[in-house]
Amino acid sequence: MITKLVIASKHNKEKAIAPIANRNGYECVVTSLVDTDSLGTFTGEIERTLLPLEAAKLKCELAIKLENVQAAIATEGSFFPHPSFYGLLMHEEIVYIIDRNKGVEDYFIERTTQTNFGKTNCTQLSEVLTFARQAKFPEHAIILSYKNKDYLQFVKGIDDEETLIKTTENIFKTSNELSIETDMRAMFNPLRMEVIATATEKLFKRLSQACPKCNQPGFDQREVKPGLPCSACGLPTPQIRFFVKKCNYCSFTVNEPSKNHSADPQFCEFCNP
Ligand SMILES: [Zn+2]
Ligand SMILES: [Zn+2]
Repeated sequence: MITKLVIASKHNKEKAIAPIANRNGYECVVTSLVDTDSLGTFTGEIERTLLPLEAAKLKCELAIKLENVQAAIATEGSFFPHPSFYGLLMHEEIVYIIDRNKGVEDYFIERTTQTNFGKTNCTQLSEVLTFARQAKFPEHAIILSYKNKDYLQFVKGIDDEETLIKTTENIFKTSNELSIETDMRAMFNPLRMEVIATATEKLFKRLSQACPKCNQPGFDQREVKPGLPCSACGLPTPQIRFFVKKCNYCSFTVNEPSKNHSADPQFCEFCNP
């Protein structure tokens, strides 16, 4: 039986999601009833009060309710400094699905440093053009913002050079400074669209794996356990020892040992403190 799957997105995410979901036995429709921007925008005019995972889940729940269907899918992206490498930025994309016909509720989180995410302040056109070039403009769109009296004004979705130059010149007629940032909305950011497709692909792969114990879809690696022994002294290191496959429903767990049998002493807190 083919289930109707509602995609809760105002930003053309169906381009990435629908072909994959259709291959996996769903019929996709896009809803315009869920105002996903009301849960927060990247530019901050509407603050994000929910955690990304909560927001993705809520988009699905709203889509199911407002469209009166059994299944919905939604994504939520966030961008932040890499936790261990200074200067690198991370893109985290959560794809969330609820399918009440199958009793499935699951998600996949894809993380990558392949993002053009960025923001800076500029006082002249040359700085704007330099930022734009580094941000993969014009294939990836740009947002300009500036202070007009006490209000922050935004010009979003700029994706051609003529508009970028004209808008910049107009802003500099009344302001000394503007902010330029990457437009991270999916339809304006091919890199993000690719990550949404990857995450969707991995979510459906996860759902294609049934739990050996309770047979629910989604038996997949969900955690790792550190503790790979050091090759020099044998003490546990922070390197991965086990990949933990887990069922979301009955908690059945399988620890799969890492292919490496020991860790290089450079990772050992005893040999290389
Ligand atoms: Zn299970
Ligand atoms: Zn050691």
